[in-house]
Amino acid sequence: MREVRFHNTLTGKKEPFLPEDKNKVRIYSCGPTVYNFAHIGNLRAFLFVDLLRRSLRALGFGAEMTMNITDIDDKIIRESISSGQNIQEFTRPWTEAFFQDLETVGIQRLEHYPKATDSVPEMVEIIHLLQKRGLVYEKEGSLYYSISKFSEYGKLSHIDSTGMKTGTRYDTDEYEKDDVRDFVLWKSPKLEGEAFWDTDLGKGRPGWHLECSAMIRKIYGSGIDIHTGGVDLTFPHHENEIAQSEGAYPDEPFVKYWLHSEHLLVNGEKMSKSKGNFFTLRDLLQKGADPKALRFLLLGAHYRSKLNFTFDRLEEANQAVQRLQTCLDRLLTEKETPSFSFRDASPIPTRELWEQMLDSLADDLNVSKFLACVYEAVKSLNQRLDKRALTAPQAEEAVEFFRKADGILGILEFERKPETLDSEIDELVQRRQEARKNKDFALSDQIRDRLNELGIVVEDTKDGLRWRRK
Ligand code: AMP
Ligand code: ZN
Repeated sequence: MREVRFHNTLTGKKEPFLPEDKNKVRIYSCGPTVYNFAHIGNLRAFLFVDLLRRSLRALGFGAEMTMNITDIDDKIIRESISSGQNIQEFTRPWTEAFFQDLETVGIQRLEHYPKATDSVPEMVEIIHLLQKRGLVYEKEGSLYYSISKFSEYGKLSHIDSTGMKTGTRYDTDEYEKDDVRDFVLWKSPKLEGEAFWDTDLGKGRPGWHLECSAMIRKIYGSGIDIHTGGVDLTFPHHENEIAQSEGAYPDEPFVKYWLHSEHLLVNGEKMSKSKGNFFTLRDLLQKGADPKALRFLLLGAHYRSKLNFTFDRLEEANQAVQRLQTCLDRLLTEKETPSFSFRDASPIPTRELWEQMLDSLADDLNVSKFLACVYEAVKSLNQRLDKRALTAPQAEEAVEFFRKADGILGILEFERKPETLDSEIDELVQRRQEARKNKDFALSDQIRDRLNELGIVVEDTKDGLRWRRK
């Protein structure tokens, strides 16, 4: 098995990836907050998880993966109150929309999608353990984590915690970058009609950071191999997860490798709901975009590089997808009705290229190199097809290559589109001639357009009308 290396935010280095059990790599990813449609920046983070899953499988690992659904936080509480619905009613359609979007862009299902509201007892349990270790204090009915008591606070985001303002607190679920303060674990209800749980901690609801610590515990027991999320989650969210989990279970490992995916930008700025500079998947579909093109665009940049979204880039991605599909279609045809006309065919490079593609994935998911190999294969195969220098078994081998590549890319169709039969075209040409004879130009034009769509050129010759495929 080849050595796999991932960039670990904790150490700031690319490290050999050595999971506890290679047949069951334990992965947790921060998922969506379900109060609206996801934007395509969020989708980039979810597609990264899909790339990780598909790559690990191609590299010979098995995985058990989890993505949480945040179905309670400040925004959800505010919006559910104003819509007059309870939390479940309010979040259900957004959760469904999230799963639909994943399917539309070809994201494979994970093993677990736990909801925050289903894990409250596990969150309460963690708070109890933190209280026992003297890491929690109370203020006006809410409970806060005293970060100055956790000596390793800051080790993930590499913030300097020496000048920390101890005792200053944040009540909100999200706060500004690098502003280091105590964070809330349990919030007493503040708003009229706000959802709360009546527990031995008092009436309240969990702070946002706590759910991930609790779900990891609930699903995997002790530590996991990989934790992922967008870079914006490194601080404070993931730093706080470490403080909670390692604070509550100091003798157990928590996360071995932290992988963070970079942002999707618009005009150089992070795409975000609050800035209003976002597109949802549905916005793009309405404009006629192909979800495969979006998938290709978002996957095509390395996960640790920023990517600027433009419609020109989306169109380029669309053309790249078409180019791969056209080559595959030609191979599928060739496999069934070979046009091979040379005695000796030299070998095709797909086997070596596939090995190089696996090496690229093993090197911190280097998709740019992976794609360069795909393009090289397409170029070489197209040349061979043009020269009719590809045997049927080679065409078969090339199709297999595409199948393996698509195990990662997830954009190709392997069902050959049935070609229109020659007899059907003969009939159309015949009907067009009759229409012209009868001066029915509307019908004649209609048939001409249909022939055009089918890629048929009709020529007037001295022997009458002849047709050929473009
Ligand atoms: P949210 O639904 O806001 O909790 O975000 C879900 C995921 O999307 C998180 O992993 C975020 O880090 C990620 N995310 C948010 N905005 C962007 C963006 N513009 N580009 C890439 N990932 C993002
Ligand atoms: Zn999380």
